[in-house]
Amino acid sequence: MSLREIVRWPDPSLATPCREVSEISDEIIELAQDMLETMYAAPGRGLAAPQVGVLSRVFVVDTEWKDAAPAPKIFINPEIVARSATQAVQAEGCLSIPGVTVDVARPDSVVMRWTDLDGEPQEEAFSGFAAACVQHELDHLDGIVTLDHLDASDRARVITAYEEQQV
Ligand code: ZN
Repeated sequence: MSLREIVRWPDPSLATPCREVSEISDEIIELAQDMLETMYAAPGRGLAAPQVGVLSRVFVVDTEWKDAAPAPKIFINPEIVARSATQAVQAEGCLSIPGVTVDVARPDSVVMRWTDLDGEPQEEAFSGFAAACVQHELDHLDGIVTLDHLDASDRARVITAYEEQQV
């Protein structure tokens, strides 16, 4: 396993829809393992493949590890199959937009279906912080970041602050 470099917004990888994974190749297994190592080292609770410059539909999440034992989850070709009508707002950070936290409203629970590293189908319901986390990572696979949830004036204000801080 090795650490991969996390790209920063506005890297074009973060604005590009990712390809479906057609087979769980050695390359995909290595990618997923590297992404977990990179996520824990960052440290973060979720990381999507385009954040390490790979345009494949893979993300990793561990929403518990800062408070409990590690429980890594690897999602390949994830999709949301059900979402609650009710929404919740979470303050979301992103490893690719360091220093920026954005309030994002999303369904407060979702059911996600995906393929695991053994090629087996998985389905699980997520709520609260975990629901926001998996939706945030799924957004990355569609080329969407937290900033894209803001209206034009908030987006401009946040980007100006971000750019000033990068200098
Ligand atoms: Zn992110």
